[in-house]
Amino acid sequence: METYDALLAAITPESGPTRTILNPATGEAVGEAPVHGVRDLEAAVAEAAAAQPAWAALGHDVRSAALLRAADAVERSAEELATLLSREQGKPLNGPNARFEVGGCAAWLRAAASTPLEPETVVDDGETRAELHYRPIGVVGAIGPWNWPMMITVWQIAPALRMGNAVVVKPSEFTPLSVLALIHVINQELPEGLVSVVSGGRDVGARLAEHPAIGKVMFTGSTATGKAIIKSSADTVKRLTLELGGNDAGIVLPDADPTAIAEGLFWGAFINTGQTCAALKRLYVHEDIYDDVCAELTAVAAAMPMGEGLDENNVLGPLQNKQQFDIVSRLVEAARESGARILIGGNPDAEQPGYFYPTTLVADIDNNNPLVTEEQFGPALPIIRYSSIDEAVAQANALDVGLGASVWSGNLAEARNVAARLQAGTVWINKHGVVDPRIPFGGAKQSGYGLEFGVEGLKALGVPQVING
Ligand code: NAD
Repeated sequence: METYDALLAAITPESGPTRTILNPATGEAVGEAPVHGVRDLEAAVAEAAAAQPAWAALGHDVRSAALLRAADAVERSAEELATLLSREQGKPLNGPNARFEVGGCAAWLRAAASTPLEPETVVDDGETRAELHYRPIGVVGAIGPWNWPMMITVWQIAPALRMGNAVVVKPSEFTPLSVLALIHVINQELPEGLVSVVSGGRDVGARLAEHPAIGKVMFTGSTATGKAIIKSSADTVKRLTLELGGNDAGIVLPDADPTAIAEGLFWGAFINTGQTCAALKRLYVHEDIYDDVCAELTAVAAAMPMGEGLDENNVLGPLQNKQQFDIVSRLVEAARESGARILIGGNPDAEQPGYFYPTTLVADIDNNNPLVTEEQFGPALPIIRYSSIDEAVAQANALDVGLGASVWSGNLAEARNVAARLQAGTVWINKHGVVDPRIPFGGAKQSGYGLEFGVEGLKALGVPQVING
């Protein structure tokens, strides 16, 4: 276990170009990140390719044991990792934020280590015997976003390692320190060169996606970048898992209890200050209980403190970067100008340092408003009134993304009927965005393809091979 300063020193480059990373809550310097280029990527890929065969040869049990030790190492450094994550990403230590994210890293490492995966006997009829195995791919590229930088990196690397692959990680240019520190800690339990971080920009990501020595890319990020990766990976026919953008709808049925669901609705939408792919981004509420749901949600929102992440009182933080702050500001302003009613928030304090945007609820908004149809990825929730379930389902399904969705009701059978009609990779009932390492997760439509987590997630990091005979 290292102190916070020792951890930061360990990931600070001794030579080469660096970039100062600033805390989005305060503008203060957090640390220096290396600026890696395509040559660094080449070196990392070569090292990974050299380390991978011996790792694959260890077999599942030994690799799983190493992942379990890596989970222990993350837990030993949990507070230092959470502090760095909070400073760099902005998310508070408390609430479903930095400490929660580091805890998730340990949990997902353990799950990838412990999920059983046996060869499947597909046919065994006395004449033919066919077995389906999953072999290592080789070197996997992992490209990630800035919203949950540590946890998403673990989601990508843990199953890859369990399946006998090496990994080259390309973190977001907004949050490289969190990923460098996480991998530094995990690497204490792994062979040298097996996992490395190339802390570069879009050019490095683009090269990784076309690199002939990379067999698969795990990508989490925007739909636009996902499309670019599909194109650049085409020449080498790479395997891809794409976890892309979303704009999740939630439908509140007329029988729901507004008081009982208000807190669940709030965290479904505002987890990580709304910077979450599978967060509730559009809320459809039946006209019978529309005003009550708006009032209850406003009361919950008003009670949730937002501020600097290291202050233990806060559960909401700033936007991670100016670009995201500008997107949220633009979309809320467009909603206000269209005549929608701002129930709370909507007026960022220009004097306050940092990219803080207040928790914002917008009522009486048209379903075609850009705040509804675009992924705003921040702390603003449009609440749309509906009168028939068919209308709400049609509106929920109208977009070309479909990551998550939710149905809120006291009648489970009715909620499940509505859930079955929604076009989304996951439909939650009376909750939203709750992920679990045992349960597969992935998008429908342009939210991507491929599944993460559970045994399906392991299979996605292997090459299926049939032994027939
Ligand atoms: P982004 O697409 O801008 O960047 C993601 C990563 O891709 C970064 O590391 C970036 O450097 C890299 N990149 C950029 N251009 C590239 C290219 N041409 N080739 C290869 N790599 C390239 O996304 P972001 O703004 O960091 O993250 C927010 C987005 O991520 C949102 O749309 C959100 O919904 C999505 N997201 C999805 C999930 C999911 O599980 N589906 C999870 C988290 C975030």
